[in-house]
Amino acid sequence: MSVELAVDADGWVAQARKLPSPNFEARPQGAVPTLIVVHNISLPPNEFGGTAIAELFLNTLDCDAHPYYDAHLRGVRVSAHFVIHRDGALEQFVSCNERAWHAGPSNFFGRERCNDFSIGIELEGSDTTAFEAAQYRTLGALVNALTARYPIEALAGHSDIAPGRKTDPGPHFEWPRLQRDTLLADRYFPYLKFSETP
Ligand SMILES: [Zn+2]
Repeated sequence: MSVELAVDADGWVAQARKLPSPNFEARPQGAVPTLIVVHNISLPPNEFGGTAIAELFLNTLDCDAHPYYDAHLRGVRVSAHFVIHRDGALEQFVSCNERAWHAGPSNFFGRERCNDFSIGIELEGSDTTAFEAAQYRTLGALVNALTARYPIEALAGHSDIAPGRKTDPGPHFEWPRLQRDTLLADRYFPYLKFSETP
C-alpha cells in the first residue's frame, strides 16, 4: 500500500495528527530546510506504544512516572517535526517552516547548528530493534513530500551529525530501504550532500 502525503505552505502535513509543541522558534533569517535528520526514540527506552514521546514534546511528561524520565528528562525541552509510530502513524509537532529542537550540538559537513536548516523525523524504535515496514512506508512518503516542498539536499542520521554523542537511528535502520521506498535518485544517497555524491 502506498501512502501519499503533502506539505502545505504553512509547513504542515494534512494527513498527520497535529500536536503543536511549544518547543520551537523561527529559523534564522533566510534559512530553509535542506537536510532531513532521521532519529529513533522510545519512551521508556526500548518500550513501544503509549503516549510518552508526544508528552515529552508537549512538555506534559510526568517525570515521576519512570526512573529514566526522572534521571534524564526532567526540565528537558525538545521537539521534532515528526514522529512515526510502529504502525506507521504520523504525528507532527512543529511546522517544517519553523526550527524544531531535535539535533542539539551538531555539524553537517562543517555547518553547525543543524536545527537551523533541518527537518527532524523520529522513528519510534531503538538501536537494538528492526523498524517496521509500515514505518518505512510512511517515512518514504514523508521524504517525498518534503523534497517536493523544500530544497532538500541531503538525509543524515542523528549519529552522522553528532558522532560520539548520538547513536540513532542505529544499526537497524536500513538506508537502502528508505532510498528504495522513495523517489530519490542515486545522487540522494544518505549521509552525503547530494552535490558531493559521485
Ligand atoms: Zn536523535
